[in-house]
Amino acid sequence: MRVSTTTSSRSDSRVFTVVVQGYGSALPRNAERTINVPFSRLQALMQSISQLGGKVLSVSAAADAPAPAAPAPAASQPAPEAKKAPAKKSAAPVSHAAVPVNLYKPKSPFIGTVTENYSLLGDGAIGRVNHITFDLKGGDPQLHYVEGQSIGIIPDGEDANGKPHKLRLYSIASTRHGDNLAGDTVSLCVRQLQYEKDGETINGVCSTFLCDIEPGAKVKITGPVGKEMLLPEDEDANIIMLATGTGIAPMRTYLRRMFEPTEREKNGWNFKGKAWLFMGAPTTANLLYDDDFNRYEREFPENFRYTKAISREQQNAKGGRMYIQDRVSENADEIFSMIENPKTHVYMCGLRGMEPGIDEAMTAAASAKGLDWSELRPQLKKAERWHVETY
Ligand SMILES: Cc1cc2nc3c(=O)[nH]c(=O)nc-3n(C[C@H](O)[C@H](O)[C@H](O)COP(=O)(O)OP(=O)(O)OC[C@H]3O[C@@H](n4cnc5c(N)ncnc54)[C@H](O)[C@@H]3O)c2cc1C
Repeated sequence: MRVSTTTSSRSDSRVFTVVVQGYGSALPRNAERTINVPFSRLQALMQSISQLGGKVLSVSAAADAPAPAAPAPAASQPAPEAKKAPAKKSAAPVSHAAVPVNLYKPKSPFIGTVTENYSLLGDGAIGRVNHITFDLKGGDPQLHYVEGQSIGIIPDGEDANGKPHKLRLYSIASTRHGDNLAGDTVSLCVRQLQYEKDGETINGVCSTFLCDIEPGAKVKITGPVGKEMLLPEDEDANIIMLATGTGIAPMRTYLRRMFEPTEREKNGWNFKGKAWLFMGAPTTANLLYDDDFNRYEREFPENFRYTKAISREQQNAKGGRMYIQDRVSENADEIFSMIENPKTHVYMCGLRGMEPGIDEAMTAAASAKGLDWSELRPQLKKAERWHVETY
């Protein structure tokens, strides 16, 4: 487990609540403890827990808790228990342990270097979508992240008022190890925004900046941010993924973590559950990372299923265009059987416009099973099993 405590953390006054199992000699092996610890001592506590064979169940920012005044424990001693965290019925199913947040802020961003920038689209595809990788070496603290997070990009130049551009968020498309597995790069999957206004084609500022950028260029990067789309740590979890367009970015990180052989060797996390990706795109040429996903499906047929909705090439049951919600409706029985299992998580990512369609499909599918989706969805959300990031 990595928790950065380098220079910038010295003035960090935040306190974290760590829920740990099997830590403390006087306690039964399965007993849970809640420990509040200042950020400066978080790393030492993690090392101590690891050395004594404890298991970290969650780490969260204890925003209102005062920092404990007691000195930090020696590595071989359990940390003193400070103020109790608010009672929690059970550990969160998605662990937020050691998730880095805002290591770099807009006022002093990390300057990354572009290492590659290539199109992800096939011949005849609509629009422009690129895979762009940045070298993160040399940061203090090192800019690191986990699957499901986003980073901010501040494009060069100024806005119409002569002020520096504001940052735009992009979902990270590489695992924490990066595409080169060295742990010092981050990749994005960016669609160039283009629309017509008064007969003129308008290009989005940051997406065009990124799609045009050349290897070697320097880019201002902030973050990482986001805890909504984290994967559960449970290796037996089932993961249903609903993605349209660049919403595939977080799903690519999950699937690489689960099925890319080199990732599996590196991460010590052997996914044993079922993963099911629903991917929506207008044409076959617009499917992103399709070859990799086809390969995972061939190599892990028991664990991975890949269902495509290609709106301009396939027809739904009513003879209309095939959208992702039509695929959800077609497979509603199986999806709901999976959702009945408390180990199943659903992740949705893509353009905001996809939400109503999915909601409609889930409402119809739920009612066919005698369930009320408007009641079920908030329950899934509360249980941290329904994860949505749309933009
Ligand atoms: C959490 C999160 C994750 C994201 N992840 C990704 C990702 O992985 N990949 C990705 O490509 N994007 C992603 N985005 C979107 C990204 O942040 C930018 O919003 C996007 O790239 C457009 O930025 P831009 O600077 O190019 O456009 P801008 O120059 O900022 O233009 C956007 C503005 O143009 C206007 N506009 C847009 N469309 C139209 C239209 N049809 N007609 C009239 N006006 C219009 C709107 O006012 C809009 O606010 C994500 C966003 C969030 C919040």
